[in-house]
Amino acid sequence: MAAGKGGYAGKLNKVAPYPAAQWQGDQSSPIMSGYPVESTMSPAFYSWLTEGLSGFGWLEIAIYFLVVTQLTIFSVTLYLHRSQAHRAVDFHPVLAHFFRFWTWLTTSMITREWAAIHRKHHAKCETEEDPHSPQVRGIRKVMWQGVELYREARADRASIEKYGKGCPDDWIERHLYAKYPTLGPTVMLFISVALFGVIGVAIWAIQMLWIPFWAAGVVNGIGHWWGYRNFETTDTATNLTPWGFWIGGEELHNNHHAFPSSAKFALRKFEFDIGWAAIKLLEAMGLAKVLRVAPSLDVRPNIPMPDGETLKALLTHRFQAMTDYYRHVMRPALRAERAAAEHQPKLPRELRKGLADGGRWLDAGARERLQAFVSRRPQLATLVEFRARLAAVLEERSIDASATLQRLQAWCAEAEATGIRALQDFSMRMKGYAIAAR
Ligand SMILES: [Zn+2]
Ligand SMILES: [Zn+2]
Repeated sequence: MAAGKGGYAGKLNKVAPYPAAQWQGDQSSPIMSGYPVESTMSPAFYSWLTEGLSGFGWLEIAIYFLVVTQLTIFSVTLYLHRSQAHRAVDFHPVLAHFFRFWTWLTTSMITREWAAIHRKHHAKCETEEDPHSPQVRGIRKVMWQGVELYREARADRASIEKYGKGCPDDWIERHLYAKYPTLGPTVMLFISVALFGVIGVAIWAIQMLWIPFWAAGVVNGIGHWWGYRNFETTDTATNLTPWGFWIGGEELHNNHHAFPSSAKFALRKFEFDIGWAAIKLLEAMGLAKVLRVAPSLDVRPNIPMPDGETLKALLTHRFQAMTDYYRHVMRPALRAERAAAEHQPKLPRELRKGLADGGRWLDAGARERLQAFVSRRPQLATLVEFRARLAAVLEERSIDASATLQRLQAWCAEAEATGIRALQDFSMRMKGYAIAAR
C-alpha cells in the first residue's frame, strides 16, 4: 500500500512536511529549528524510521498484526497441537514445513519440546508433574508466568525425551530450528523494523507476547479454571466459550481433554471450532488428511445386560457417562431433597460440583462438609456411592476386559435393584451405549 494515502504516514506528512530547504541546512526554517536531530538525517532514512518500508497506516498495521498473530495461533493449534502432539491430522509436507518455519520465526518454540510438554500435560494432568496445572501451581502463576513454566518444563530433558517421540528430526531441525531457536524471533524483529520503522519494535514486542498470553496464559490457565463443561473429565478442563474463533478453536478445552486425539474440538451442535473449519478447507485443497475425530455415541434400546459393545463405547465415552450420571441421577435427587426440606439452605455451588466430580478438587474442610450433608440423606448417599463405583470401573486401566465387563454388569444389576427410579433409568440407558457408525 502506498504511503501518504491518509493513513499514519499521510497524517505525518501533513503535520511535518520536509521542504527541500530543510535538508540544505536552512536554519531559518521553523521546522528545522524545532527538530535539530532531523538535520543530520537523510529524508529517506527519516521516512524509514517513521514509516518503515511499508508506509502502512494504522489500519493496515492492525490488519498485518492480526494476520501474523493468527498465523501463529493456527500454526500452534493445527500443527504443534493437533498434528504433532496428538496425531489427529496430517498436513502436506510443504504446509507442515511452513507451519514449522512460522513457529520458529514467531515463537522460538521447538516442535519436539512443545509436543512433549503438551503430551505430558495430558498424561499427568493436574498432578505435581503437570507442567502447567492451575490446580497445582495456582491460576496466577499459569496465567502470567506461562513462559517461565514452559522454560522449566523444557529443562527437564528426560521428559522431553520420553514424551517427544516422532517429532521432526531432519537436517534443518537439528542445524537451524532446534539449534538456534531465538534466531527466528530475532529475524522477525528485523523484518518488523524494516517494514514499520521504529514502531516495528513495539509491534514485534506485542507479537512476541501474543502466544505466551493466549496459549500459555488463557488456554492453559483459564481453560483449566473457568467456563462450562460438556464432559466430566478427571481434570478441571473447561470450554471458555462455545465459539472458538479467537484462539484457533482452543477455547473448547474441555472437549479436547475428553477426546484428545480428535482433530475436531467442537462436539455439540451450537459449538464452533475455527481450527476445524481450517482443516476442512485444507482437506478440500488436498493439503490435509484427517486421521481421527471423536466418535459419536449411540444408544441401543432394550439391552438386557452390558456387552462388549457397551464396554467399548463406555470406555470411549466415560466422561459423557459421568456427566449423564450427574445430570440425570444426582441433580434430580438434589432437587427432590430441596423440595422436601423447603427451609434447608441450598447446597453451595462448590459442593454441588463436588457431587459431579467425586469431590476430587475439594479441600479437606469442604469434603467433610459434603460428607456430612450426604450422610444425613440416605438416598443421596446411595447415589454418591454408586457414582464412585462406576467411576472406579471406568477409570481403571485394566487389561482384562472381561473382568471390567463383569464389574459393569454387577453395577447395573445392583443399581436397578435399588428401587431408585432415576438410577434405574440411567442404568437401562447406559447398557445400550454403542459407538455410532459413521
Ligand atoms: Zn489442558
Ligand atoms: Zn492437547
